Amino acid sequence: MKKIAIIGAGYTGMIAARDLIKDNKVDIFEAEEKVGGMTATFEAYGTPLEKYYRHIFKSDSYVIDLIKKLQIEDKLFWPHTKMGYYSEGGAYEFGTPISLLKFKPLNLGNKFRFGLSVIRIKLIRHYEKLEKVSAHEWLIKHAGKKAYEMIWEPLLFSKFGASYKEVSMAWMWGKIVLRGSSTDKEGESLGYMKGSYQVLTEALEKDLLTKKVNIFNNCKVKQIKKNKNKYTIVTDKKNYSNYDMVLSTIAYPYFIDIANDLIDEKTKKNLSSIKYTAARIMVLFMKKPFMKFYWLNNGNKDIPFGGLIEHTNFIDKENYDNKHVMYISNYMYEDDELYNLTKEELFKKYIPMLKTINKDFSEKDVLRVEVFNERYAQPIITKNYSKIIPKFKIKNENIYIASMPQIYPEDRGLNYAIRLGHEVSKIMRKK
Ligand SMILES: Cc1cc2nc3c(=O)[nH]c(=O)nc-3n(C[C@H](O)[C@H](O)[C@H](O)COP(=O)(O)OP(=O)(O)OC[C@H]3O[C@@H](n4cnc5c(N)ncnc54)[C@H](O)[C@@H]3O)c2cc1C
Repeated sequence: MKKIAIIGAGYTGMIAARDLIKDNKVDIFEAEEKVGGMTATFEAYGTPLEKYYRHIFKSDSYVIDLIKKLQIEDKLFWPHTKMGYYSEGGAYEFGTPISLLKFKPLNLGNKFRFGLSVIRIKLIRHYEKLEKVSAHEWLIKHAGKKAYEMIWEPLLFSKFGASYKEVSMAWMWGKIVLRGSSTDKEGESLGYMKGSYQVLTEALEKDLLTKKVNIFNNCKVKQIKKNKNKYTIVTDKKNYSNYDMVLSTIAYPYFIDIANDLIDEKTKKNLSSIKYTAARIMVLFMKKPFMKFYWLNNGNKDIPFGGLIEHTNFIDKENYDNKHVMYISNYMYEDDELYNLTKEELFKKYIPMLKTINKDFSEKDVLRVEVFNERYAQPIITKNYSKIIPKFKIKNENIYIASMPQIYPEDRGLNYAIRLGHEVSKIMRKK
């Protein structure tokens, strides 16, 4: 039996702990006061609400399986959702063949090329073919310049900012093919939990505690030290010693900070080469609904946010004391002016843009505003990524890493955090 320290109590860390506890002693260290990582919630008029909008797809088999194992399947449900696209002054329904036919900003020829390009992506079975080409190049070639500039380019730009032309087509393939599993002719059905994903997080936490995993919340790891063959976890509270193995599930820049002396130069260079965009997500609680869609992607380059997600067009507003809840999603770089504004300044900046999208919107109808920042929210998956994807084990050490940039070719998500937790623990248990 080995003594293992896990850094980070997001889903990757918690799932790895659930597997590793079968034949080891496991301690998890979490900087925040609650477990859950990016799936964590806050109090919203009596019901927990995710800081970052959240749903699962029908292809998310690892999440569905976990929900079943924890015997809370009765909490999972699949509301029908309506997607929209904001472009050239209007919000249009989007995401089904019929809605594409009705989409005014593109002429028939361009719609046809766009539709064909989506079918073509869905028919591709092996992403390897797409690795060598950027999404920018592939989509211009197959969807045509007009459809690319109108639809794909704003989507890529909103997630990756200035780096959008570097993103691999394999990443886009993962995104489209998997999302397709939740869509039929009528549109999309997405998974949510009665009482929020906090129900799943709490059930998982309870399960870990029952299995005798120690979870240290409010315990930020500052350094991993080595003494002979054992590791010490230095936290902002105290030191924890005698670990045979360490698993880090935190973003690479944080990991390099805490384990600097223990990482070989080649790995350090590899980890440092992977860049991320940050996310700044605003949540509005409103007296009135804003739009008819659950999800509205923004194709207007003058409006800096990527999309609006009206949660209460997905989940009943009764859960939130009849307040209408809408997220404003914005990915950016840390040095972006918007990342550094106060909540009030950011909201003020967004008001005219919200009025552009919905002329009847009034800030007077907004009762509460929250903002959440995620510094390393989206890894930038570049061409030929399989050649640089970091390995689980750090050379010459019993230190392992498992975090979002090791998910490929699928886009990061709860489902793949769970898969990653299983993958890394399988390797660790064999050592
Ligand atoms: C805006 C946004 C929306 C999203 N929407 C969805 C969605 O709808 N559906 C979906 O499936 N996925 C979604 N995701 C992705 C999903 O949330 C992540 O893929 C998943 O939660 C990652 O889990 P993780 O355990 O790998 O990392 P994290 O959840 O980031 O966990 C890492 C943990 O490490 C902790 N930590 C960091 N540094 C230290 C330290 N020094 N010491 C101790 N602890 C530390 C952090 O506090 C955190 O709890 C979204 C992500 C974002 C940003």
